[in-house]
Amino acid sequence: MFQSQGIRIGRILGIPIYLDLSWILVFGLITFSQSSFFAQQHPHWTGPQHWTLGVVTSILFFSSVVFHELAHSVVAQHYKIKVLSITLFLFGGLARIARDPSQAIQEFNIAVAGPLASGFLAGVFYGVTLLFPDSEMLGAVASQLALTNGMLALFNLLPGFPLDGGRVFRAMVWGATKDFARATRVAGASGKLIAFGLISLGVWSALRSDWVTALWTGFLGWFLLNAAQASVAQVTIQEMLAGLCASDVMNQEVPIIPANMSLEEYSGEVLRTGRRVHLVTMDDRLVGLMNVGALSNIPREDWNMNSVQAVMVPREKILWAAPDEPLQRLLERLIAADVNQMPVVTQLEEGAHIVGMVTREAILRVIQTRSELGAALTSR
Ligand SMILES: [Zn+2]
Repeated sequence: MFQSQGIRIGRILGIPIYLDLSWILVFGLITFSQSSFFAQQHPHWTGPQHWTLGVVTSILFFSSVVFHELAHSVVAQHYKIKVLSITLFLFGGLARIARDPSQAIQEFNIAVAGPLASGFLAGVFYGVTLLFPDSEMLGAVASQLALTNGMLALFNLLPGFPLDGGRVFRAMVWGATKDFARATRVAGASGKLIAFGLISLGVWSALRSDWVTALWTGFLGWFLLNAAQASVAQVTIQEMLAGLCASDVMNQEVPIIPANMSLEEYSGEVLRTGRRVHLVTMDDRLVGLMNVGALSNIPREDWNMNSVQAVMVPREKILWAAPDEPLQRLLERLIAADVNQMPVVTQLEEGAHIVGMVTREAILRVIQTRSELGAALTSR
């Protein structure tokens, strides 16, 4: 969902922390609104004081968001789930984990840790206001942070996917029904309801000319709607591919070409047969993998001067699949590595043996066929 990682600002507990570019905008907005708030509440402070405290509040607010994400991350790591990154973006933070939790209780604990951390911070900042009642500036900053962290905790507990509350909700439905896909659909549906609620609130605010609220709630609603739909779509694909493995969809005929073939000849071969992937051999040994993508990276006028060997994916860089590898995992690997196909190999006593080729198209075709057939079966 978030392709751009943004700017890397550091590493905590071994997790790289990134700033998305959209964050710069929101940092400016929050600093501005905090400074104006302080100017309104404490007109006797100087302009530079209002701005300094605005910046300090903003920085502490985003540190609080990182703390919230770290809370999710620590619990995930406790369950041996790798945390890939934490990114701060327009609507707060996002901790990316390597895989979904394998049990409902794990998802519940990972999700609930974030709002608990924010609630804890709200308490700490509120405590600061009580401990230092005479310090006006400290009190002003701390009470703003108590408020924003409290709101962060409450908002995130709304029971709609992909908010933390939605994950908690999914974990509970999952635990009760033992059906992950169904739980995702239920939490996704309630996420859509919350998103539509926010969008309606945005429209209502716009009608009352409250443009700031209108924009924020409108955008947030739209963002949540997309995220809820994406998570439901993902689980649908998981279901479609359930029980299938590489050998089910692989193409057993893998055409072979010699390494010294020129690119000109290769293009002729591709145009004649319509095949897009070939294994490359030299003296009967496998040396690489050639495909149309590698060919089209080379300018047309150089095709005569280059051999397949010069542009193919060399043997040691080829990613392999095992015949019994689940398709869902294989599709994830294809997407992560940005490749369109993988040779399927079996390990025999006399060495590796190529038994076929799995392509993204073949996997997508099975998803499409199953969804058509599924629709036909359910409409009877
Ligand atoms: Zn969270």
